[in-house]
Amino acid sequence: MESGQGSAIWDVDGNKYIDYACALGPLIHGHSSPRIIENVVRVLKKGPWQNPPTELVAKVGEDVTKATGTDMVRFTNSGTEATMYAIRVARAFTGRDKVLMFQGAYHGGHDYALCTHPPLRRSSANKSLLTNPQLLGLHPDSWGVPQKVLETVMVVPWNDIAILETTIENHADELACVLTEPVQMNIGCAPPRKGYLESMRRLTEENDTLLIFDEVITGFRLALGGAQEYFNIKADLATYAKALSGGFPIGAIAGKSEIMKWFSPNKVAHYGTMNANPACLAAIEVSLEMLSENNGAALKNLHKRGDRLIEGIEKAIDSTKTEAIVQGMRGAGLQIFFTPLKKIDNYQDFQTCDRTKYKLFQKELLKRGIYVHPAQSEHIFLSTAHTDEDIETAVLAVNEALSVLPKNTQTSILFNAQFTAGQLRLQPRSDSLHADSPEGEPHWYG
Ligand code: PLP
Repeated sequence: MESGQGSAIWDVDGNKYIDYACALGPLIHGHSSPRIIENVVRVLKKGPWQNPPTELVAKVGEDVTKATGTDMVRFTNSGTEATMYAIRVARAFTGRDKVLMFQGAYHGGHDYALCTHPPLRRSSANKSLLTNPQLLGLHPDSWGVPQKVLETVMVVPWNDIAILETTIENHADELACVLTEPVQMNIGCAPPRKGYLESMRRLTEENDTLLIFDEVITGFRLALGGAQEYFNIKADLATYAKALSGGFPIGAIAGKSEIMKWFSPNKVAHYGTMNANPACLAAIEVSLEMLSENNGAALKNLHKRGDRLIEGIEKAIDSTKTEAIVQGMRGAGLQIFFTPLKKIDNYQDFQTCDRTKYKLFQKELLKRGIYVHPAQSEHIFLSTAHTDEDIETAVLAVNEALSVLPKNTQTSILFNAQFTAGQLRLQPRSDSLHADSPEGEPHWYG
């Protein structure tokens, strides 16, 4: 692709596509938003430096805490850094080492986060691996992640209150935090079951463990205040990136002041030459303004269009008699799954999806001028620049694409191979770099 404007992108041959990937999420206001670009240029003309800090840091810091309903915020350059620092401060604050995460989640590229994709397809015969967090936690998603690092994390299935309860209670004295995507977006889009996040909040509180919402995707999309506002659940810390700046390299950790204050020269380190750089802050300033003005009209419209898209896809699935479902959080993000299941609740369910069919589907959409990311684990994103006409065009294209898809392409369920826990510890699977890589999908994940 070569350029973008509003909801559209153009390839090097000048072909136009409506973009439903939005650069993996950041482009909440679409491509080249004139207001964002203008403010960034205005600020950069004063000089692109971030130290000593300018007034903009304080102003945008206040904007972010107001929008997210948090006490304090610190800026990083990516979501990866934000979750890494959030884990560090949680460990320092609680005096405990372990971090509980969920199968199928993605929290960035640092060592502590690369352990959430156990080889379920190959090991499903061995049930103990599904529920034994110690074993699952010892499985790295990447070469080069030290085994010792992974001994400080635990990984359990998402959306299972019983396993969550047992794990938190059995490990309370060593558990610094539970780190979760409030909607598991990194398997397409798996909303929390009723009461799941509430249980997580209650259990973490009862066991003096911190609850960290990784809002890198849900932040500024689900609501201005992200999942915390949408579900009315207050986490202890939250991490943001992507839509926070509308397309510039940014991340943030925000939360309760008694925890955030532990970031200080003699306690918890938070470093970074480029942290809080003015280009990104200028982008945040305007992006938040655009989301807040007119009583939040931009997000309300985005969600209405998301509802329409979901509804249109549901109808297309019905009318073409396709074995598929669509799940979404209104305009915040949605995904189509080629599965016999009625619902995708977790990483195990996600393994039933026919990813080969998804890739064919993506290509059929591309032929019809619609761009979605080719990986099933990514999502369909809208921006405030998408119009009703864009939605209608997409629904029409989905209908046509589903009509021409072959009925049988299923290649993704590989049950029965016997893997022992010992074998799992030897080395990461070459197909475990991301939930969606086995069939050789391109690696431009975020
Ligand atoms: N957390 C979540 C939930 C994400 O989806 C991602 C990236 O996709 C990250 C963290 C990492 O963010 P970044 O790519 O900005 O490092």
